[in-house]
Amino acid sequence: MKKTAVATAPAASQVKIPFFNVKRQYDALAEELRAAVCRVLDSGAYILGPEGRDFEAEYGRLLGSKHALGVSSGTAALRLALKALGVGHGDDVVVPAMTFIATATAVSEVGARPVLADVDPRTMNVGAEQLSAALTRKTKAVIPVHLYGGVADMGPIMKLAAAKGFRVVEDCAQAHLAVYQDRCVGTIGDIGAFSFYPTKNLGAAGDAGAVTTQDDGLAATLVRLRNVGRPPTDSGKHELVGYNSRLDEIQAAVLRIKLRRLQDWVDRRRKIASRYASELAGLPLTLPEPGTGGTKHGFNLFVVRTPDRDRLMKHLAERGIGTGVYYPLPLHLIPAYRDLGYKEGGFPEAERTVRTGLALPVYPELTDDEVGAVAKAVRSFFK
Ligand SMILES: *Cc1c(COP(=O)(O)O)cnc(C)c1O
Repeated sequence: MKKTAVATAPAASQVKIPFFNVKRQYDALAEELRAAVCRVLDSGAYILGPEGRDFEAEYGRLLGSKHALGVSSGTAALRLALKALGVGHGDDVVVPAMTFIATATAVSEVGARPVLADVDPRTMNVGAEQLSAALTRKTKAVIPVHLYGGVADMGPIMKLAAAKGFRVVEDCAQAHLAVYQDRCVGTIGDIGAFSFYPTKNLGAAGDAGAVTTQDDGLAATLVRLRNVGRPPTDSGKHELVGYNSRLDEIQAAVLRIKLRRLQDWVDRRRKIASRYASELAGLPLTLPEPGTGGTKHGFNLFVVRTPDRDRLMKHLAERGIGTGVYYPLPLHLIPAYRDLGYKEGGFPEAERTVRTGLALPVYPELTDDEVGAVAKAVRSFFK
């Protein structure tokens, strides 16, 4: 029989170690999650109710953040953060060229212009040096991204912000419980923005996010902005033009159950990362730095770098191991942002990373055997 083109692609059943497996996490918690969802359905309270309030208190406590507010997604969190800081038309916001597009679309959504910065080749994050080079007269805010869970060097960034008078929004979408000098990320800048997209370190059963801040005034503004400008008490007196970016009760209930495991899950991610680091040592691969002392990677993604990325990816796929590319293009080469006017070659480190980075599976539900099998398959490529 003649083979069809489709038959040559590896069938889904052949994938032995998928890149993500959110179903495995669900299966382990299924009973508890179903009970929580039913409890919310039966309660008749679906938005901004007790589950959301409890989640906010618990999440704030875990991070060591004075305020944590549930919102509808990570993108909404970024957009609300910028709006709360007064960013709008005529303002520039510096974002790394190497990030998920939502970091920049949040800037566009509030009417400001994303201005790009290259990344530090060691951390893949922007640092004060890269931000400095990208500042304009109109820079109102910057968004350092803790990419893959690795922390941006916040100390010098906050110093630069104080000297130059711009605000700082931390994009923590990939960095729940990542730590910078003994403080959880999201508690260092003016506002932290978190995503609970299902594959993040803390994942909802749908879209959800949170903003964190240590500033009472900003928290009060964020409470209004997420709920179409409505003040918590006098509900008719909208003083702000806000958004519908609320967290719903079903997602909050799901998040509360998973939140109790979050520290263990992030610890497990770190353990898997350290096993990869020891088993892959000595190969011609650049490995992520786990952090030292009071600074710790959150390992939402474990990204190795090699000029042979595409062949390594194929080698692993042939052995049933799923991998991911984060991201296929830096922001300045994405068609949607062509009109920012940047050229190829403009951000060499970001461009190198998109050609060389490959994410290996690192979710906490991976078994030790699976982690060993991934490492072995990577080693066999370089033999
Ligand atoms: C996931 C992600 C976002 C967006 O979060 P959503 O919840 O999908 O809106 C923003 N920034 C980064 C770096 C992300 O990884």
